[in-house]
Amino acid sequence: MKEILVKDKVEVNINDFDINLVEKKIFETTRDLGERLLRDSIRGIEEYELSNLERSCLCGGRLKNIGRVRRKITTIVGEVQYARTRFKCCTCGKERYPLDEVLGLQENGNVTLGLKEKTLYLATDTAYDKAADNLKKLTGIELSGRQIQNWAKEEGEKVQESVRRKREQIFDDNCIPESEEKRKRVFVQVDGTFVKDRSKPGSVECKVGVIYSEKAKVSKNRFRILDKRTYATVGNIDSFREEFIAECTGWGVWDAEEILYVADGASWIKKMCKYDFPGAVYLLDFWHLAQNITRALGEDHKRAADNWIAEVKTTSNARLLLKRIRSLYVRIRDPDLQERLKKLYGYVKSNEEGIENWKKVKCLGASGAIEKTVDITIARRFKKRGMSWIRPGLSSLLSLRLLKLNGEWDKYWAARGVPV
Ligand SMILES: [Zn+2]
Repeated sequence: MKEILVKDKVEVNINDFDINLVEKKIFETTRDLGERLLRDSIRGIEEYELSNLERSCLCGGRLKNIGRVRRKITTIVGEVQYARTRFKCCTCGKERYPLDEVLGLQENGNVTLGLKEKTLYLATDTAYDKAADNLKKLTGIELSGRQIQNWAKEEGEKVQESVRRKREQIFDDNCIPESEEKRKRVFVQVDGTFVKDRSKPGSVECKVGVIYSEKAKVSKNRFRILDKRTYATVGNIDSFREEFIAECTGWGVWDAEEILYVADGASWIKKMCKYDFPGAVYLLDFWHLAQNITRALGEDHKRAADNWIAEVKTTSNARLLLKRIRSLYVRIRDPDLQERLKKLYGYVKSNEEGIENWKKVKCLGASGAIEKTVDITIARRFKKRGMSWIRPGLSSLLSLRLLKLNGEWDKYWAARGVPV
C-alpha cells in the first residue's frame, strides 16, 4: 500500500469560544484541508504512476513527455485544480494522460462519480434547482440545476440499460431467482397518472406497478410494508406489461398462494388483470372509489357522499351503492349532477366485482393494506407546482427514483465503481 503524506500543519484560529463560531471555522478549515489533501494525493499518485510507466505506445512507438496541462475537477471534498503530464507517441501521434487513466477520469468529465451519486440522490426527491441549493448549503459546492438535470438524464439511461439486461436474463435465460419463502398473500397494484408535458400541450402518462406482501405493525394503527417493489415507466401499455411482468417474476409473485390485484378501474388495467394475472382476485382501489363518489356528488351533497363511502367500506355491497345512486338521481333536477351520477353509476357497475371482492378476501381497500404508492412514486417528485417534463428526462429521473425507492441505490452505485 502506498501512503501519501500531507506535511501541512493545520491551524484554526479561535478568537471566540462560541461553539457556532468554532464550528464554522473548523468546517471551513476542513474544506480547505480536504482540497489540499486531494491535490497532494493526486500529485502523489502521478509521481508513483509515472515512475512505473512504460514509455511505449500500443503501436510500439515511444512516448514522449510534452509538458503539463491544467485540469479542474469537482469532487465531494471540493474543487481542485492540478496539472498533469501529457505524453505523445512519436510514431502515431496519439496523446495520453496517464494520471487521468489511473484516476478513472474520462476525457471530458470534470466531476467525480461520487459527487454525481450524492447530487442525484438529492435530485431524485427534489427539483434540480433545489438540489443544487441544498448541495451548496451543505457542502459549499456550486452546481447548476441544468448540470444536475443533464447528469440525471445520462445516468438514468445507464440505469435503464442495466434494468433491461436484468429483464432479458429473466426472459431469455429463464433465470428466475428462487424465492426464499413462500408468500401467502401478495398484492399487485397497477395505476396510471399524468404529468404535464413540456414539449406539447397535454400530459404524459406514467404507469406504475407495485408488488408487496408482508406488513409489520409499527404502532396501533400503523403498518409498514417490508418487501415492496415498485416499477414505473412512461412507455406504452405493451412495454409496461412486459416489464412489469418481468419485475413480478423476479420478485416471486407466482409462488404466492394468493394474488390480489388492486386497480382504479381503468379499462387497460382491468384487462391486464384478466390476461396477465388470470388467477388473481380483482379489487377496486378504495381510494379511487371514494374520490369518484366525492367528486360526483360535489359540495352540495358532501354528507351523502361521506355516508355512501362509509357504507360501502363496511358492507362491500356494490349493489346497494348502485341503488343509492339511482334513488338520488331520480330525486334531483340538476342536469350537471345527473350527468355526474350517470358516470359514477357506470363506474361502479363496471367494477361491481372489484367491490364485492373486498368482503371475499376480508381485506378492504381502506384497511391501510393498500399503499398510496403512485403518490409516493410520481406525484411527490414530478407533479409539484409548475413542473413539466419532456419524455426522455422524465424517464431517466424516474428510473433513478425507482432505484432509491426499491432500496437498490447503493448496490447500483457500487457496481458503477463508487465505494458506498
Ligand atoms: Zn503510437
